[in-house]
Amino acid sequence: MKAFICVIGLMLQVEIALAATADATVSNIFLVTLDGLRWQEVFRGLDQSLATNGDYAERSETIIALYGGPNAEDSAEALMPFLHNTVFREGTMVGNRDRNSCARVSNSWYFSYPGYNEILTGVVDESIDSNAKIPNANKTFLELLNDTEDYRDRVAAFGSWDVFPYIFNVQRSGLHLNAAQNADPAENAFEVFLNRLQDDIPSPWGNVRLDAFTHHYALSHIRNHHPRIVYIGYGETDDFAHDGQYDQYVMAANRNDRFIEELWELIEGDDFYKGNTVLFVTVDHGRGEEPEETWRHHASKQSVSRSMQSLARYEEGIVGSDAVWMAAIGPGVPVSGLVGTGDGCLTSNRIAATLLKLLGEDYRVFDPGMGAPMPEFLQ
Ligand SMILES: [Zn+2]
Repeated sequence: MKAFICVIGLMLQVEIALAATADATVSNIFLVTLDGLRWQEVFRGLDQSLATNGDYAERSETIIALYGGPNAEDSAEALMPFLHNTVFREGTMVGNRDRNSCARVSNSWYFSYPGYNEILTGVVDESIDSNAKIPNANKTFLELLNDTEDYRDRVAAFGSWDVFPYIFNVQRSGLHLNAAQNADPAENAFEVFLNRLQDDIPSPWGNVRLDAFTHHYALSHIRNHHPRIVYIGYGETDDFAHDGQYDQYVMAANRNDRFIEELWELIEGDDFYKGNTVLFVTVDHGRGEEPEETWRHHASKQSVSRSMQSLARYEEGIVGSDAVWMAAIGPGVPVSGLVGTGDGCLTSNRIAATLLKLLGEDYRVFDPGMGAPMPEFLQ
């Protein structure tokens, strides 16, 4: 009898130990990108010179009233309140170059397809030298996970840009992706209505839709299907910047911040995601700062000397457009706040391996060519 009780006790102990291990494991990942949103706005808030320049900001008074502030910190917090008050306080971030915290892309182009390829596959492929709709030869970490039994059909991606189907190579990967397209088939009355609105509301751009559509298709699918791996690529910030509309650029950044907050509220309010889901936010490239008008652009020296002839007058490329930022919150992510990087920089090609590591997976099993996990984002 005594021996029997001992065995039961031992079994209970083992079960408790297993439960503790399971609790510490991250089960789900939400990766969000904001296209080309500069670290300058994220950490300094409004650029006063651009915000008061009538050529760039028709609604100058509006954005100064909403997002201005007595100093950079206050302005940044007004512009992106969820990032500052929740993600930065309860998680980890990198990329505030005013405080010796550096993050950059490691591709040599500083524009979108190479940037997204680097983030999503963890490898730098120098042959990706344009934003052309060419199916990606490399596999994103979403595809690699979707190819395993544990994650099959538990992966979903959403984007505003119509090149994402090629970046994710949907034809090969078979991933669930809604990028600049209707939900097909619409799975509920809300998606029928979204499809109708998307047909009836013109996008300002030919190949990028408004982020509200991306966001609400994503929310609908997440609630219905509970994917374990979610990617959302918002796009307005980059397009408004290219158009030279600084007011619209910062208002888009503010909306994106609210969208991210809604994603976190969904995570926190859903038993499936609560307490076991990491939210990671980053950008595919930066933008220029000096001379001032280069805030509209992004390109490396190599890009302007080759394909981007319209920017050839900037012989050194758009200086600073390799600069990015990253932030994460959730179990397994330390509460470090801003991470100092000394003389070095964290790089975007390490994001995929970091997310795999959070899930308890070894990136080398999937692709040893990936950048290594970033210990700064791991407890
Ligand atoms: Zn971009």
